[in-house]
Amino acid sequence: STFDQMGIKDDLLRGIYGYGFEKPSAIQQRAVLPIINGRDVIAQAQSGTGKTSMISLTVCQIVDTAVREVQALILSPTRELASQTEKVMLAIGDYLNIQVHACIGGKSIGEDIRRLENGVHVVSGTPGRVCDMIKRRTLRTRAIKLLVVLISATLPHEILEMTSKFMTEPVRILV
Ligand code: AMP
Repeated sequence: STFDQMGIKDDLLRGIYGYGFEKPSAIQQRAVLPIINGRDVIAQAQSGTGKTSMISLTVCQIVDTAVREVQALILSPTRELASQTEKVMLAIGDYLNIQVHACIGGKSIGEDIRRLENGVHVVSGTPGRVCDMIKRRTLRTRAIKLLVVLISATLPHEILEMTSKFMTEPVRILV
């Protein structure tokens, strides 16, 4: 299958091809559409299989840039991963005018507040700083339609149990 067949908006397709991707990887072929269609998804794939890119392009697809509120929140276990995800989203979303902010520990809180108050569409962050911004009510969650919790290449039992509490009939994808 191809990116053209996935119902992706034209300006995003331009960004994907401009970034150098020619066709979707296995995880991208299987996970993008269910998420875009509003399903809860648990996807498991080894590193280097296109997971970060899959999330980045899915987020770019669902964000409405006319709405200046946080619509997608991506939580990553490390600052590096949160920054990397931000970079891929900005690159793929080059033609979308999408405002992405990396909300991560070790960076200026004042800058976080300034960016969030100016209005961003997507936050890619680490749990501590994101939690802090939500508690201060600087990060508003009311318009969020996609929450991504990146864990690891493995899915421990406790994590699976936790997902059953807040996911509805999740689609399980294993590549
Ligand atoms: P990721 O797991 O998303 O970090 O992707 C791992 C590597 O594969 C990165 O260098 C990506 O740029 C690249 N990659 C991801 N998806 C694709 C794709 N559909 N076509 C070509 N390269 C890709």
